[in-house]
Amino acid sequence: MKTRRVAFIGLGHMGSHMCRHVCMAGHEVSAFDLNPRALRAARRDGARPARSIADCVASAEVLITSLPGPPQVQAVLCGAEGAIAHLDPGGLVIDMSTSSREVGRVVLTTARAHGAEFVDAPVAGQTIGAEAGTLAIYAGGTRRAFRRALPLLETMGDSQRILHMGPSGTGYAVKLLLNQLWFMHAVATAETLTVGVKAGVPLDRLHTALVNSPANSVFLERDVRMVLDDGDYDEGFAMKLVTKDLGLAVELARDSGVPVELLGLVEQIHRRARLVYGDAAGEISALRLYEDVADAPLRFRPPGHGEMPGTTVPDS
Ligand code: NAD
Repeated sequence: MKTRRVAFIGLGHMGSHMCRHVCMAGHEVSAFDLNPRALRAARRDGARPARSIADCVASAEVLITSLPGPPQVQAVLCGAEGAIAHLDPGGLVIDMSTSSREVGRVVLTTARAHGAEFVDAPVAGQTIGAEAGTLAIYAGGTRRAFRRALPLLETMGDSQRILHMGPSGTGYAVKLLLNQLWFMHAVATAETLTVGVKAGVPLDRLHTALVNSPANSVFLERDVRMVLDDGDYDEGFAMKLVTKDLGLAVELARDSGVPVELLGLVEQIHRRARLVYGDAAGEISALRLYEDVADAPLRFRPPGHGEMPGTTVPDS
């Protein structure tokens, strides 16, 4: 693969691992983040730590960003001192943040004005996928821009799940829709399991029955196990970002003109969880709301640790 000069901005839970994979593939990477600790880690991973956005982007052919959300994406990429202004003419910008189509349009216009191409390429797969380099990636942009981005995307993602969704902005849209459905599953699962346990059904048997029923979902079968097995609400993705994503999904729905009563409710439930457990609480914290209000911890117990509360099955 051709070695590229890559600038990588945003080295958080996701970006730190993604940047490392780009380095490991042999590209020349300069990296920038506001957090000095993240920069030191990037140096250990083989990137050149940059002093500023301008220093990071100087002489780069490709610019990759993984930032919290639309305000940061616009601030970092656009404007007179934005990263795109410092990029080589003919360069390529790949934004892998979960952001909005509205900011995507501003970035596209800015990129075109500088003779650069732009691909929105948000990701799914949690920090575990970022660490393993097996992310799913949903790209929006021209075919040509996508083909240019693909070899770099393949260093961070699973090639079977790097999908070109359509024109600019469609990558962002798909990512928001995916989150919309996933966080609906989270609330639906929380309600169902809590009611079941309060109704006296042992949690392990209830879970097995549901997983083997037409009501199964990936969330129920796999993702909720983090909580049920270990009490881990996944702090790798903070509630602050969850509510940002759900707010963007509501905006997307509003733009489309489709009424989304269920999404509105699900968004409010996650906002409540963020308020109760804090900005940094893990992404599955909505489940905790139900556990707390019903006083019914949803946990499997390892064999040999006795019966879970409510797991003794009466004869009648
Ligand atoms: P994070 O908050 O851990 O990381 C964001 C990084 O951006 C931080 O290190 C921060 O210092 C840096 N940053 C913010 N403003 C900056 C600026 N002006 N200049 C330079 N650096 C700046 O977030 P994350 O969890 O890594 O998520 C990144 C993106 O990926 C978000 O859009 C998120 O919604 C999305 N995402 C996250 C996950 C996950 O599991 N964490 C999964 C899929 C998608």
